[in-house]
Amino acid sequence: MSAASPLFPKIALIGFGLIGGSIARAARAQGLAGEIVTTARSARTRARVEELGIVDRVVETNAEAVEDADLVILCIPVGACGPVAQEIAATLKPGAIISDVGSVKGAVVRDMAPYLPDGVHFVPAHPVAGTEHSGPDSGFAELFINRWCILTPPDGVDPEAIERLRAFWAALGARVEIMTPDHHDLVLAITSHLPHLIAYTIVGTADELAQVTSSEVIKFSAGGFRDFTRIAASDPTMWRDVFLANKEAVLEMLGTFNEDLSKLTRAIRRNDGEALFEHFSRTRAIRRGIVEIGQDSAAPDFGRPHAQLGKKAE
Ligand code: NAP
Repeated sequence: MSAASPLFPKIALIGFGLIGGSIARAARAQGLAGEIVTTARSARTRARVEELGIVDRVVETNAEAVEDADLVILCIPVGACGPVAQEIAATLKPGAIISDVGSVKGAVVRDMAPYLPDGVHFVPAHPVAGTEHSGPDSGFAELFINRWCILTPPDGVDPEAIERLRAFWAALGARVEIMTPDHHDLVLAITSHLPHLIAYTIVGTADELAQVTSSEVIKFSAGGFRDFTRIAASDPTMWRDVFLANKEAVLEMLGTFNEDLSKLTRAIRRNDGEALFEHFSRTRAIRRGIVEIGQDSAAPDFGRPHAQLGKKAE
């Protein structure tokens, strides 16, 4: 891809972990900002960002970062968005776009909107892309390519501001969709939050099983468990905030999930092979659909590299 002309003279990123760091790298690679200024909560992260040399300036405070910024993106845990909005409100430039990347949208809108002054454009966003890694070194410019970014602008937001943010995310490689915060939270509860909760549960349960030792769980993990451990390694702060902030939708989905789990439990107990086969065939078709629309790799074992026969595994 060739570098585009800057979409924004100055972009401020508050928080520089996986998502903030990936936005900075991609925006720089695409030439989307005249200047990128960033800050992070700890002196340690700020020092590391300086060392990495990806952004133009690293500043100490959130308020300093947003001064004169045309686009401000909060790249911090969902639970921190309200207090940070309060902190930066008085310094935001009139006409600036203020956005975030939080994995829950209803709570972020509820927590941030009351503090934002008239004359700034609030366009919340959620890039549906990530890994289990966090921190300033974990980001990479290609993270958003062919991934969705969902914008959830409140009613009455200037369409031009929405369009500018859409263009920004499109230039980072994302496909952009617009929906209401409530709809976003319901969709993500089933596609992301519940799977994470299940992974956290299974990995915890396996760890507690007395009949199977921990070393056996780790040794034979390639049988399926390993894929859950990757998800269950996700950042504890981020996911604590996600479940607290999207409580209603997650509880609703958990209710449905528990009913379905009971049906499968009954099928196993009753030796109902037909019910199990029918269910597994339906889910296999869903997996094929995800691969067909390019949202995952069709390569065996999710594209993991494998040692060749005759060569020792590393
Ligand atoms: P991360 O790698 O852990 O980085 C978080 C950043 O936020 C760090 O710079 C951290 O500063 C700062 N921070 C933490 N607590 C803070 C607080 N109370 N006040 C101010 N700053 C604070 O996290 P991430 O994965 O980039 O996630 C950031 C946001 O993106 C979250 O809202 C998450 O829901 C959303 N998101 C994540 C993913 C994913 O897969 N990870 C995907 C999509 C969206 P220090 O380093 O100084 O502590």
